[in-house]
Amino acid sequence: MGQDHWRFCDKCTTMFLDGSPNKGHCAAGGGHEAQGFMFDLPHDVPETPKAQSAWRFCQKCNSMFFDGRPDKGHCAAGGGHQAQGFMFVLPHDVQETAAAQAAWRFCQKCTSMFFDGRPDKGHCPAGGGHQAQGFMFVLPHREFVRPDILNFDSGPVTSPLPLGGIGPPGYSQKRRLHLHIACP
Ligand SMILES: [Zn+2]
Ligand SMILES: [Zn+2]
Ligand SMILES: [Zn+2]
Repeated sequence: MGQDHWRFCDKCTTMFLDGSPNKGHCAAGGGHEAQGFMFDLPHDVPETPKAQSAWRFCQKCNSMFFDGRPDKGHCAAGGGHQAQGFMFVLPHDVQETAAAQAAWRFCQKCTSMFFDGRPDKGHCPAGGGHQAQGFMFVLPHREFVRPDILNFDSGPVTSPLPLGGIGPPGYSQKRRLHLHIACP
């Protein structure tokens, strides 16, 4: 089981749920601003040595945060985060693929999930930039069609996008459209 509409915020670098007109509270001011991949995050499945549970949606700031320790971190909306909905179980320390992006980390200051793959460390609600600790998360997204399921379309199988640790790369609207048609 997975929930999509999870996005990278270009302003604060956290993972937030972009599923409604309400864009939550961004530590950089205003609401979050989505960029790059459309993440599809697994929830309510068993925890494994390579997937950590207790990740939750915060109904105050819309970010993904770790709810597995006594304190609830620092929420951009004030106070600690407040969990709602699904119990997410997020893969870590596995190989990065064309359909899963590495360099996602737990911030030990605000307890949010943030992208640690670019030079700046975003905006942390606890002040300054985020500070990574613990596992190296590798999060699944939908902006790539696996060649093994691309059997009814002769379109581009190989991606023109650079695959690797730099990202999240932007994607063209045209390519996204193609994928939506090719993968109902
Ligand atoms: Zn933000
Ligand atoms: Zn929050
Ligand atoms: Zn932080």
